[in-house]
Amino acid sequence: MSQVIILFGPPGAGKGTQAELLSDKLNLYYLETSKIIEANVMNAKEGEYAEVDGKKYYFLDEKKLWQKGILCSPPFVSFLVKQKIEELAKEGKGIVMAGSPRTLPEGKDQIPLLKELYGPENIKIILIELSPEQTIWRNSHRRICELMRHPILFTEETKDLTRCPLDGSKLVKREGLDDPETIKVRLKEYKERTLPLVEYFEQEGLKVKRVEGDQSVVDVHKDILENIK
Ligand SMILES: [Zn+2]
Repeated sequence: MSQVIILFGPPGAGKGTQAELLSDKLNLYYLETSKIIEANVMNAKEGEYAEVDGKKYYFLDEKKLWQKGILCSPPFVSFLVKQKIEELAKEGKGIVMAGSPRTLPEGKDQIPLLKELYGPENIKIILIELSPEQTIWRNSHRRICELMRHPILFTEETKDLTRCPLDGSKLVKREGLDDPETIKVRLKEYKERTLPLVEYFEQEGLKVKRVEGDQSVVDVHKDILENIK
């Protein structure tokens, strides 16, 4: 049976980078919530809707929110994510998730479905730990590439890079998102809204393995592989 790997950790812990590596190495589908939203709203058709708990969410309304940079309705996002999970399970594909589920309600919504489709023994949860000081330092230095928005972690090996190692495009800072004040807000959000997931996963009988995030990308990758055996 295919497996599901869920990576989580504070902003800047390198979840996205590690998810890409695991996706390549283990042939897993990297399930990115933002890409799923984008794919669905870009192709939104007049009158198309998702019904969740008796309420209708119109794709075109959600597209308007998305285009303004406003978060789409959580039930709508959840609907799309679960639809994708079901599709992948049907195809027998393994999944790696990073940064989702991000809150307790999302976890409670997605975990039962994942357990049912993949079996609890095939769900591996990795918490990439990073101290608050490291989180702030890394985030205030982090860059993404202009072309594909590949995240480039700020480490000893990458600090002098000016171009994306994958596609050669210029590395830029993320406007607004990586200001120290914004990072503090995100860190607080992480502590208050994401970390409670640890307890929930454990209640659900899923083990949470901890990996030290303050090391090179390759060493974090090795530790993750060791912990999902
Ligand atoms: Zn790139």
